[in-house]
Amino acid sequence: MSLIEITEVRKSFGTNEVLKGINLDVEPGEVIAIIGKSGSGKSTLLRCINGLETINDGSISVAGAQLLPDDLHLKALRLKVGMIFQQFNLFPHLSAGRNVMLSQMVVKKTAKAEAEAMARRMLDRVGLGHKFDAYPDELSGGQQQRVAIARALAMQPIALLCDEITSALDPELVAEVLAVVRELAGEGMTLLMVTHEMKFARDVCSRVVFMHQGRVHEIGPPGEVFANPQTPELKQFLGLH
Ligand code: ADP
Ligand code: MG
Repeated sequence: MSLIEITEVRKSFGTNEVLKGINLDVEPGEVIAIIGKSGSGKSTLLRCINGLETINDGSISVAGAQLLPDDLHLKALRLKVGMIFQQFNLFPHLSAGRNVMLSQMVVKKTAKAEAEAMARRMLDRVGLGHKFDAYPDELSGGQQQRVAIARALAMQPIALLCDEITSALDPELVAEVLAVVRELAGEGMTLLMVTHEMKFARDVCSRVVFMHQGRVHEIGPPGEVFANPQTPELKQFLGLH
């Protein structure tokens, strides 16, 4: 059994079919880069995997728990799979530490002392142990995104989904966030990341998924996908980078 099993998943918004039968199995500890043009369905796929969108057909299972079309019991799935977005979405009126504590206390009903201990550990893990009391506007974009990563990790997810998490950052801040992701990968965290960082994908990912018009158009190890693209669509996409 794979950690995440995506089988013939379809998702439409109105008459617009955005995912047209996606199949993808993710093994524990795999780091998968998802690439493709804007509008190809990358974000929708991630949002379906952690239950932010309901699927219309097919199935998604995470650690053996299956999610079926129109399943409204998505909370359990969301607890298991963490997601980090382009925008950090930290609460501006809460310190970094409080931001990391909050979802644990609200969603998991973790006791305050325990949530705080976990927040300190996770901020340490992303290199921000000294910023527990800092407010978001006192932090750089890279630091805010690392707080968002700490917040996701504090929920002890079995996999992390990252949707263009460095796209909103000034170029000089990208490396510190990628360094954290690289460390998580090294520690065996299962990661699915939509990214434009091709060098990172090449260095760190076990497989690359190229999405095109709602389908997995090509998939394989980075060495193959980048060095030997099979379709004109992927060749064109890579030519743009
Ligand atoms: P990508 O992340 O690859 O840029 P998305 O998954 O965001 O692509 O979008 C794929 C398609 O789905 C686009 O045509 C987009 O307009 C559409 N779409 C995404 N989310 C919604 C939504 N909530 N309502 C309607 N259409 C949506
Ligand atoms: Mg997107």
